Order: sequence, then C-alpha cells, then structure tokens
Amino acid sequence: MRADIRRTIHCAAAHLTLLVAFAASSALAQTPRTAPVTVPVPYPSPLPTGRVTYRTLSEAYSELERMAVAYPLLVKRFALSHRSLLGQTMWGLEISRDVQRSSGKPVFLMTGLHHAREWPTVELTMEFVWDVLKNDGVDARITALLDDVRLIVVPIVNPDGFDMSRSLINEQKRKNCRVTIGKVPTWAECAAPLNADAGVDNNRNYGAFWGGGGATIGVSGGSSRGEAPFSEPENQSIRDLLSSHQVVVALSNHTPDAKVLRVPSAAEEPIPADVIPYDSLAQALGGDLKWPAGPWPKIYYVASGTLEEIAYYSAGTFAFTFENAPGQRSFHPAYSFVIDQYFGTGAYPGSSARAGFMRLYEAAANPALHSVLNIKAPAGATLTLHKLFTMESSPVIGADSGKAPALTFPMELTSTFIVPRGLTAVTWHVNPSVRPSQHAQAHLQESWTLTCALAGKKQSVSVMVLRGAAADVDLHRCR
Ligand SMILES: [Zn+2]
Repeated sequence: MRADIRRTIHCAAAHLTLLVAFAASSALAQTPRTAPVTVPVPYPSPLPTGRVTYRTLSEAYSELERMAVAYPLLVKRFALSHRSLLGQTMWGLEISRDVQRSSGKPVFLMTGLHHAREWPTVELTMEFVWDVLKNDGVDARITALLDDVRLIVVPIVNPDGFDMSRSLINEQKRKNCRVTIGKVPTWAECAAPLNADAGVDNNRNYGAFWGGGGATIGVSGGSSRGEAPFSEPENQSIRDLLSSHQVVVALSNHTPDAKVLRVPSAAEEPIPADVIPYDSLAQALGGDLKWPAGPWPKIYYVASGTLEEIAYYSAGTFAFTFENAPGQRSFHPAYSFVIDQYFGTGAYPGSSARAGFMRLYEAAANPALHSVLNIKAPAGATLTLHKLFTMESSPVIGADSGKAPALTFPMELTSTFIVPRGLTAVTWHVNPSVRPSQHAQAHLQESWTLTCALAGKKQSVSVMVLRGAAADVDLHRCR
C-alpha cells in the first residue's frame, strides 16, 4: 500500500500527548497498548485461535515459541540471519511433517507486515499457521500438504515498525526505524515525534530493480528505497532466507487495496519469461479473492525493489502480493474485517484469503510449476545446490530525476539436503536452473552446480533443468 494516500486522520494533539507520556519512561514506552480501533467481536471468533483483537509484537513472538513447543514434529522456530535495525531478533517458522529432518520438499514462503501499520497481515499469517496445525489428520488436503511441502512463515518482516505502530507510539508508521541514512538509530530516535515520517520502506529495498520509479530517496519520502540495494537488515534477512531454500512460491501480505500482484512491478521490467503459468496462477488467486490480478503497473502503480522482484528474478519463484482487508479507509480496520477476510464472509463475501493461501500452498506442491531432481546418492551424503550470478538494480534515479547506470550485485543461492539414513535415491523439488532475464522475455541458460559430499569425498555436476521438468542425477559414488 502506498504511503502518500489515505493517511488516517487522527488527533495530532492527542498523539503528541501520548508520545510525551511514552517518552517519560522507556519501560513504559515499550509496553504495548490496546488499540482503540477494535469493535467488539463475539468471543471466540471463528478464527482457528478464536481471537478477537490484533496481536502485539510480543504476543506474536511468544506465540511462535508456543507453537514450536506444542508441535515439535510439525513446527521449527528459527531466527532469521539478521536482527532488525533496533536489534530485535526476527523470528520465523518452518512447518512440515518431520520438520526437524532435512528434506527435498518444495518451499512455500509466506510473509506478513513489511509495512508497520498493516496489522491484518500478521493476523492472517498467524491464523493460517494455526489452521494448518489444527487440521493435520482432520482435513485431507492439509494433511497431504504437510507431507509434501515445507511452509515457511515470517509473520513480521518489520518488527521495529510494527512495535511502534501497534503500541500506538506512531500508529500510522509504514517504514522501518532508519532515521538517518547510514546510521543505526536508538529506540528513542525512532519513537521521537520529530522522526514520525522517517524510515526506509522494506518493500522498496530489495536489490532487483532497486532505485527505479515508485520509490523515493532519503528517509522522509513515503516509499524510501534506502541507501543501497539490501541496505536494511530486515531485507538482508529475507534475501538470505530466499537464497538458502528452494522457495518455489512466495506471498507478501499487505493491506488494503484489493489486488493480487505479480511482477513486473518496476517500469523497466520485461514481460516475465514464465508469464503463462505465472499469470494463470495470479488469475486463479484473483478468483479466490474476487480482486483484480496482474502486474503492478497495469492494475496498481509502479514500484521498484519489491519482494516479488527479488524472488522471481533470482530464482524463478512465483511470488505475489495480496492487498487484504480493503475498503475500510484504514490499514488496520476493526478486527471483524480480519475475520471476514480470512473466510470470505460478512463484509467480503466470496473473497477468502484462506482460499488464496491454500491455492498457493497447493501450487508449491505441484511439480509442473517448478523442477525436480531425481538423485542417486549415498545415505548420509550432504547434497548442495549452488549458483552464483550477478543481478541488476534499475537505472538509479537521482535527486535531479536523472538516471545513473544500474548497479550490479552478486546473488548466491546455496541450499542443502542430507540424504536420509537407509536411502540411496532422493527427490529434490527445486527452482528451475534457467533464470528469468531482467531485460527480455527469455530465460538465461544457467545450470545448478550439485555437489555430493560424504566422509571427505566430493563430487560435483552441472544440472540444467527447466520449469515443469525433471532431471536424473547419478552421484552414487560421491567421490
Ligand atoms: Zn503494504
């Protein structure tokens, strides 16, 4: 959702009083406050948890911990590779059958809350995880998906911003806590009224096509791109997650504009090389949500440095944005709209986020949409799939609106799979080795390097594999 429109009107004087009160004590300042926007919803709600109010950051994070304890065979909690700007650990979950065990399952990555005030995205993501867990052995589709797919969720990509917004210190905050380019802020600097509009937009800081249209320079603009591609630690975390897993489908949840978006998002992008299967999935999602579906510039606006761009152009991941909970003149409407959006009931008849999530989950399980490696290798061997290449930003728009040449940056994909005991042949669901060009509707004819390592012995082979295809690889000697 764009920053410069539909800013919620609120009383500036009351806001200032609240900020002064908060500033008086940092302990108090970090105490979450109940949002005043909640209209009573009968408890329990039909959501998997029965919730009727928005989670705070600490509630969401302690819930992730509780899920991992309650479902140790299905849920693994992990810390992302970087802490947020204010030093908070960023948490995610892996959800799959025998989750602790290495596997070659395809990965569906679902994220929430790039933008601080888009609270429904946390709710929809968390509730979907509970939905999946509670339906294991109950719902046949979900039971099969737990067998076949590794679901990875990062419910809060921007924890600092969420905390500032959800605790009402800066309720309409959108971006992260970067107050000054190149400097790490303190909590008080991020919370200061003077810096209310500062920050980098975490959905303009990813490297692919960074620096183009639909983003601003510095920290005060609505959609600040940041100092450089991946300058923000939150974006580094998501980049590292994408580069270390075979994420075949990804979703970035936002509010509140009733759209299903796919690449292109920047003006410089070509028609994607995989436009036919990619758009057909987008249109099916549009049917689930009853929203327009398609490329950003065609049905929304231009944006550069988005999650879809880095995911699709680095690995061929079919990546989407959902703009949830529309039409309420708020980025976080009354909680009843979260419930209605999840199920496609009430205010949103037939527009079900859950149906969209399930379609993406099933798309991840569908080998026609990714690639498959059938590998012969000794039990206990570590298989590594690797690729190193150079990617490009957009031509970088300057303060004078002129364009400097595109920047380049390295992207390294490395994922591993340990052949389970007792097996000498495994299936690894992966992204195609051919990579979508950033310049033309074409694939770059690249290969994966697949290495088998066991007891000091090593063997590497190059594998080229297209989307929807399978390749047989014999590494049984692994030497
Ligand atoms: Zn957003």
